[in-house]
Amino acid sequence: MGNDATTPLLDRLGRPVEDLRVSVTDRCNLRCRYCMPREVFGPDHAFLERDELLTFEELARLARVFVGLGVRKLRLTGGEPLLRRDLPGLVAQLAPIDGLHDLAMTTNGVLLRRFAQPLAEAGLRRVTVSLDALDDATFRQLADTNAPVGTVLDGIAAAREAGLDPIKVNCVLQRGVNDAQIEELAGWARDTGVTLRFIEFMDVGTTNGWLRDRVVPAAEVAERVGARWPIEPVEPARPGEVAERFRYLDGAGEVGIIASVTRPFCGTCSRARLSAVGELYTCLFAAKGHDLRALLRGGADDAEVAAAVTAVWSARTDRASELRAEAGLTGPRVEMSYIGG
Ligand code: SAM
Ligand code: SF4
Ligand code: SF4
Repeated sequence: MGNDATTPLLDRLGRPVEDLRVSVTDRCNLRCRYCMPREVFGPDHAFLERDELLTFEELARLARVFVGLGVRKLRLTGGEPLLRRDLPGLVAQLAPIDGLHDLAMTTNGVLLRRFAQPLAEAGLRRVTVSLDALDDATFRQLADTNAPVGTVLDGIAAAREAGLDPIKVNCVLQRGVNDAQIEELAGWARDTGVTLRFIEFMDVGTTNGWLRDRVVPAAEVAERVGARWPIEPVEPARPGEVAERFRYLDGAGEVGIIASVTRPFCGTCSRARLSAVGELYTCLFAAKGHDLRALLRGGADDAEVAAAVTAVWSARTDRASELRAEAGLTGPRVEMSYIGG
């Protein structure tokens, strides 16, 4: 299918396509204010209709094409992926794909108690759970929900019981909102045995009221965690790793920091994103995607689909976070809940 290990598909900046993030729905059972503010994603918001979504067969077919072009990691995301009906059925179609080394999911964890075991049985290897606070008041305020944070913590326990290890927990920090919990979150992760990754608040989409003053810089996070529990940097396991990793000197595992704003990592960005309707996005901050569903539904064979992906990826020049660092971002861009994190 047009590509093998000796001729990797590279973009215009020499970056291979290795990682595919697949959004399986644009809906969510939370309304995190930094992602889907209720004023915008309220009762009148037009979410995608079911027949617009890629079917599991279409998704699995696209996944095979991407693996043929070099993708080794696939992550299911959204919206909230656990809202997609029969997600384990999709996992069962993706897990056996030859050449796919890693199949993971990012979830808010609310429904994880119900789905962890069936997902593990279907072949899911790992989960990343998003958790921005440990106390009910902050969690509820941030996620604009009545659900208690205990639901997410129980979901994490269920993932562990189902063997979906190692579990990563993502925490988006915002100054004045949840940054007071940095040490508490890090201490909880150390005690629980999960790998916590702090993420700098990003200006994804155009509706989340992003302010640079709200970003807690990675350097500050590392300093605060290190002041409580000494840490040392860990060499990246592979190029393109987004988190800067630190090891606790007392042996209590690692903590990561994703410095998308203050130390952008576009230079090694090997991530492609697929929206729930089958548009290929080459950057989290892209204004529009490339329609692959039309090709699939129009009868294109795998070689034609691969050629289309190759054409898009070969022309890719995206480096939005580096540009933001240089001059700031302007203009339209897709919402995070539409293409997934
Ligand atoms: N609903 C799932 C969840 O929350 O894990 C998956 C989709 S969510 C869009 C994926 C990740 O994006 C989450 O970890 C979330 O915290 C992160 N995210 C959303 N908006 C963000 C923003 N403005 N800045 C940084 N991270 C953000
Ligand atoms: Fe939903 Fe995830 Fe966005 Fe929160 S971050 S609103 S859980 S998609
Ligand atoms: Fe990749 Fe775009 Fe993020 Fe840069 S801004 S790391 S190119 S997704």
